[in-house]
Amino acid sequence: MNVTELARQLKTTKEELFERLPILGFDIGARAIKIDNAVSERIKQAWAQDTRRKKIKEKMEKQQTTSLKKEQDFNAQKEIRISEKITVNDLAQKLGIDVAHFIGYLMKNGIMATLNEQIDFETASIVAEDYGFKTIKSLEAEQETTKASARELRALKSDIAKNKKGIERAPVVVVMGHVDHGKTTLLDAIRKTNVVEGESGGITQHIGAYQVKEKDRFITFLDTPGHEAFKAMRERGGQLADIAILVVAADDGLKPQTLESINVIQKENLPFIVAINKIDKSGADIDRVKKELAEINLNPEDWGGKTICVPISAKKGENINELLDMILLVSDMEKLTADSKQDAQGVIIEAHIDKGEGPVATVLVSVGTLRVGDEVVIGNSYGKIKALKDWKGIDVSEAIPSTPVKILGLKSTPNVGDVLKVGIIDRAHRKKTLKNYHLVDTGNRARSKDKEEDKEEDKESKNTLSIIVKADVLGSLEALIASVKKLEKKNVSIAILKQGLGNITESDLTLARDSKSIVFGFNVQLSQEAQKMSYDRTVEIKTSKIIYEILGDIEERLKAFIKTEIVEIKQGDLLVLKVFKDSRNESILGCRVKGAPVLKNAKFRLIRDLEPIDEGEIIEVQKNKQEVDKAEEGIECGIKVKGVRGFKEEDILSCFFEEEKEV
Ligand code: GDP
Repeated sequence: MNVTELARQLKTTKEELFERLPILGFDIGARAIKIDNAVSERIKQAWAQDTRRKKIKEKMEKQQTTSLKKEQDFNAQKEIRISEKITVNDLAQKLGIDVAHFIGYLMKNGIMATLNEQIDFETASIVAEDYGFKTIKSLEAEQETTKASARELRALKSDIAKNKKGIERAPVVVVMGHVDHGKTTLLDAIRKTNVVEGESGGITQHIGAYQVKEKDRFITFLDTPGHEAFKAMRERGGQLADIAILVVAADDGLKPQTLESINVIQKENLPFIVAINKIDKSGADIDRVKKELAEINLNPEDWGGKTICVPISAKKGENINELLDMILLVSDMEKLTADSKQDAQGVIIEAHIDKGEGPVATVLVSVGTLRVGDEVVIGNSYGKIKALKDWKGIDVSEAIPSTPVKILGLKSTPNVGDVLKVGIIDRAHRKKTLKNYHLVDTGNRARSKDKEEDKEEDKESKNTLSIIVKADVLGSLEALIASVKKLEKKNVSIAILKQGLGNITESDLTLARDSKSIVFGFNVQLSQEAQKMSYDRTVEIKTSKIIYEILGDIEERLKAFIKTEIVEIKQGDLLVLKVFKDSRNESILGCRVKGAPVLKNAKFRLIRDLEPIDEGEIIEVQKNKQEVDKAEEGIECGIKVKGVRGFKEEDILSCFFEEEKEV
């Protein structure tokens, strides 16, 4: 055979062929053109065997590097759970290090803390990382954070309540009520009352709140579909609105969510107005609604009680101005004021990542004046305000109390309900304000900072499933959200971009399309507009009346994010004592088990003279001529194998199992 042809058949070059042949034990001369056919057959066999060996070696090396890397990573990934604060002693114990040594380490880093003194979570995380540990905030700690932000919010509210001086501010209004009673329609109708001619087409911004002008005075409406802002406020034990509008459909009366809303209103001591809606409908019965209200001790004003009722038709825009006037009246009674001169503080009512703008949030300014260029801290997020936009999307340079504004320039998205504060200058400063101890500026500190930035990048590169969740009632929404959060895995997170009550709306789908999220609806349907929209099928929507169906679907989707790899689990070695049968389909060998037991169905690598030669699989193990599942270390056994032939006595079969593991 021609040498060129042989090289072609072996998928190599002539040069490599000449180079490798002597290593394989063939001496054909450096200038040979033709090779004897029998020799070329032997070359082909040896070549194939050698290539196979190389592949096995590569595979082994890869396994070794991964397991080495795993071992290195293992330390970095060891996790400890700590709460908001931890004593030096407890942290040393968790890290498994001598406490005296640990105190020394802390001193070197500028932390003069004794055994029983406490370190906050952030400092503990930086320290733990130096010891190769990853810290996770325990549930109690997370609850502590929520409590902290609730405390902040309460403090802010009581500041506002106490401060009866300053400028008059616009009332902040929230619309509540049973699903389908017309909350969205009413919010739309109110928005329209205030739209300047020709402007209507342009108003597409949705920032979670908007303002209207009635009798030359502003009113701010929280416009969060499903009112998640309100829900978050409630969870945090504070409240954001000054006045609530309870929408009750005149043809339907008081329903479970109406009562749920009344509970919240009463708990929060919120002044409220009942908007008896849908009075244009034939089945409308205003008196029935009033009677139902009276039955639960909410006697209407015109019946001698205190409950203000305004009959309206949100759909036809009837009596909307009367409703707005009533809001101003209630607002006057409440004497709403705020100091606009102090450093601004406000509450986040909406937050998301915008593809073009990055993290954006809407803040409702509570006190002070927020300005472009201000440096702000919001819970765990912070940033310098690059731009402020009002609800129409128009750039503004400042926002006074009760104004909702979209803010750009944050480093990450804050949580709805977090308090925004102006005036804390930089990251280091921010750290100081957040913790008892902080690392001083040593080399170590610089390293910690780098790590922190790495961590931020890590977070971003983490696999995230974005979802929007809608449910019929608050109870099921909360249950669903709680279960969804439990589905998160180590490297896969679930971002709930929006959660709310009621049908899946056009705006849900627009958000889903823009953010590439999947919409899940529990016991809800698509609104008419949403139905029209969904026909273009750009957004995935899953609705169900069974919570587990939704959870199952999310779980399936998460699987797609999970990366796996094959890892080898080492078993014992088999020393070949005798070869009884030798063929690729089935060989029978007498062996001794070394190092560790060997299980039936294990894979093996044939090692000769310390070199890996081939790979095969054990198909049967016999002990004293009886078939068994396992051969213990030290015993002699008979094995049937497949996939390899050419065994020799003294060969070693290095046995292992392959397992698919999450990376
Ligand atoms: P939400 O779930 O409370 O936000 O209710 P929507 O605003 O989505 O309204 C539910 C349905 O009631 C929609 O089909 C509206 O068109 C309808 N609707 C709302 N207000 C009125 C009204 O004043 N009159 C009539 N006839 N229908 C209304």
